[in-house]
Amino acid sequence: MGPEELLAYDREHIWHPYAPMPATTPVHPVVAAEGVRLTLADGRELIDGMSSWWAAIHGYAHPVLDAAITRQLGAMAHVMFGGLTHPPAVRLAELLVDCTPDPLTKVFFADSGSVSVEVAIKMALQYQRSRGRTDKTRLCTVRGGYHGDTFGAMAVCDPVGGMHHLFTDLLPAHVFAPMPPATYEPAYAAELESLVAAHAHELAAIIVEPVVQGAGGMRFHDPAYVRLLRELADRHDVLLILDEIATGFGRTGTLFACERAGISPDIMCVGKALTGGYLTMAATLCTDRVARGIGDGEAGVLMHGPTYMANPLACAVATASIGLLRERDWRAEVAGIEKLLTAGLEPARGMAGVSDVRVLGAIGVIELTDPVDVGTVQDAVMAEGVWLRPFRNLIYTMPPYVCAPDDVDRITRAMLAGARAAA
Ligand code: PLP
Repeated sequence: MGPEELLAYDREHIWHPYAPMPATTPVHPVVAAEGVRLTLADGRELIDGMSSWWAAIHGYAHPVLDAAITRQLGAMAHVMFGGLTHPPAVRLAELLVDCTPDPLTKVFFADSGSVSVEVAIKMALQYQRSRGRTDKTRLCTVRGGYHGDTFGAMAVCDPVGGMHHLFTDLLPAHVFAPMPPATYEPAYAAELESLVAAHAHELAAIIVEPVVQGAGGMRFHDPAYVRLLRELADRHDVLLILDEIATGFGRTGTLFACERAGISPDIMCVGKALTGGYLTMAATLCTDRVARGIGDGEAGVLMHGPTYMANPLACAVATASIGLLRERDWRAEVAGIEKLLTAGLEPARGMAGVSDVRVLGAIGVIELTDPVDVGTVQDAVMAEGVWLRPFRNLIYTMPPYVCAPDDVDRITRAMLAGARAAA
């Protein structure tokens, strides 16, 4: 099948994320990926500024990750996890317990970020129920948040202008705090405190993306808010769930974003970069206290169990990916990217139509005053030899940590070209 035929079939028959059917938005056939570069069917090479949506932190076709999967493939590709266990799952669980904040000691392997959020919500609800707190059935979440596309996860996403407003009527009504401002504002903190206090009797948990709101708007907020949420959760007998699916494994410059706040959650979701972008896997971790509470409940078990739970290939590659992070000086890599993004995006500040430029760790964002035409911006970016996926009024990058300085420079030049094209 040639590229034209392939595209024609794709357009008619295959859904893409948030896309119409048949597809009218641009889709580009990609045939290979190596290092930080994607090769398109027409031979063009593009530097991947997206890490395949936060995931491919070590780049593509990494020999260590390839070898880990190949080795595991020789032993066992998959086996059910009900009543069986295996070395790849145990090794990965050990690593996760070791590298996440101390009180998190229990691991549930989920098959996507959204499912790990579903599991986190179930953990919180089952925990409260088992303590006789059947009144604690709601979650407190913040506007601008994004936690996934499944129904439980959608219910804690921002419904206004968000991706899920079509389903609002079908979703449980949770408690929404206003969007956290970028810097610490006592008035916002006070509002948060009174909201949590007012609803404490019915709150099972607070859920938040620490420090970076991703798909909801690529916004950053002061870690002091995360610290405040921890305090409020403790004060009001509510659990704290941190969604580190996007921020986990070094993206913001610390291994987990909650380290910036110096706190640890009761429940934490990780995904995306967990497998270095190789396979779909996520995990929900919780404390002994939460796990014991669930065990003491009427069910005595956590009510979740996906078919592909703890897939051995995914466990093996995730273990290798965390191993790579431990071997390499990823902190220096992310700090170097942060410096280059900061300098490279600076000229955007004065550009027409640009309302904000922000950088944190290996994340760079140009925010425009108006929504962009994805095709127009993408054409301008691709002409610079870079792959990005603009979204609403945002042109943003989260490149692989192994990007060379020249590659990061190319990405920032392409973002500026995209912003010029959007103006
Ligand atoms: N939570 C956050 C913070 C995310 O950024 C995402 C995905 O973008 C999700 C949850 C959902 O993860 P997945 O797409 O793997 O279901």
